[in-house]
Amino acid sequence: METVAPYKEIIEVIKANGGDAFKLCFQCGLCDTVCPWNRVRSFSMRKIVREATFGLTDIESEDIWRCTTCGRCPQKCPRDVRQIESGVALRRIATEYGVFPKSVRPIRTISGSLVGEGNPFSEERQNRAKWAEGLAVNTFTEGMDILYFPGCYLSYDPRLKKVAKATAKILNSAGVDFGILGEKENCCGESIRKTGDEELFKRLARENIKTFIDNGVKKILVSSPHCYHTFKNEYPQFMVNFEVIHISQYLSQLINDGRLQITKEYGKKVAYHDPCYLGRHNGIYDEPRSVLKKIPGLELMEMPDARVDSLCCGGGGGRIWMETPKGERFSDLRLEQAVGVGAEVLSTSCPYCIANFEDSRLTLNVVETLEVKDITEIIAEVI
Ligand code: SF4
Ligand code: SF4
Repeated sequence: METVAPYKEIIEVIKANGGDAFKLCFQCGLCDTVCPWNRVRSFSMRKIVREATFGLTDIESEDIWRCTTCGRCPQKCPRDVRQIESGVALRRIATEYGVFPKSVRPIRTISGSLVGEGNPFSEERQNRAKWAEGLAVNTFTEGMDILYFPGCYLSYDPRLKKVAKATAKILNSAGVDFGILGEKENCCGESIRKTGDEELFKRLARENIKTFIDNGVKKILVSSPHCYHTFKNEYPQFMVNFEVIHISQYLSQLINDGRLQITKEYGKKVAYHDPCYLGRHNGIYDEPRSVLKKIPGLELMEMPDARVDSLCCGGGGGRIWMETPKGERFSDLRLEQAVGVGAEVLSTSCPYCIANFEDSRLTLNVVETLEVKDITEIIAEVI
């Protein structure tokens, strides 16, 4: 088996992905000082950039799979090196060669399930809308105001289904005219793209776009910042532009317009965690906080590493599907910060963050002292 991609091929693929930017790097190392990996183990984006510049990348290395695409180093880099795009380009080469380190191998199963069932969980497509059984949730039809797109985690994962149900409760309470696509919905394709499988991403995107157009969808409400980012910033490459709104923005609108009434108190200390793809990648910091601040009795707390400096949960860049050993999970650090500021609830607005935080609650043995909640779950409790 070929283990080291030829020099010329690496250069070509990197160039095709804006990686000429690699040449701008002057090896200052700022990227390494802000990268969350260096809080749990050593890792150097600077080294990856340097090796790629000279075509010396070892595509067998675990390191090219480590970046969570959290967006911290591109914001700090003084030379506009496109670390995320170029790092993903290296994964594309590894994917083409079929070279996956052991920790990355679960991606193969994920890919198969995405092709066959449109979700990463090896669940049947026909069960996609089961979370909505018994709730007043209709199938989307042309002319409805809004398509609610819960995404894969909220459709299938037992913990995250609670967030989908809370969202449906809120939308019904506010009298929103919405529907879902059920088994016609596919994974948005964001995380598989970040693992380097560009063809599968395009396939999923084209299928979703066709479904949206065929069903007369104009406005899409999403729960996942990853769906938000993909629909808003990546699907336009297919010459389409849907109106996309994240649930945190929509909740803020519904409350401000008087359509959603908060009737109860929530007497807890709540720390809010900014998901990378909501905050750094899309600049949405204020709406989730303004929603939480509207709840009587709720004490909103800030943790270290908030807003633009938010600490990644570890789930982006396809890492949610890869194995991260104990002791190297960023989500553990985040929970320690939440406990450190005295929070009783760690709240966020992203399914990957919730999944990782729930794991860390068990690992750190803080199940009794710290709850993990999506902001929709808190709102659903107080309306
Ligand atoms: S911060 Fe930018 S210029 Fe500095 S080492 Fe990293 S990639 Fe190179
Ligand atoms: S994007 Fe985030 S995880 Fe990736 S190298 Fe930069 S700081 Fe590290």
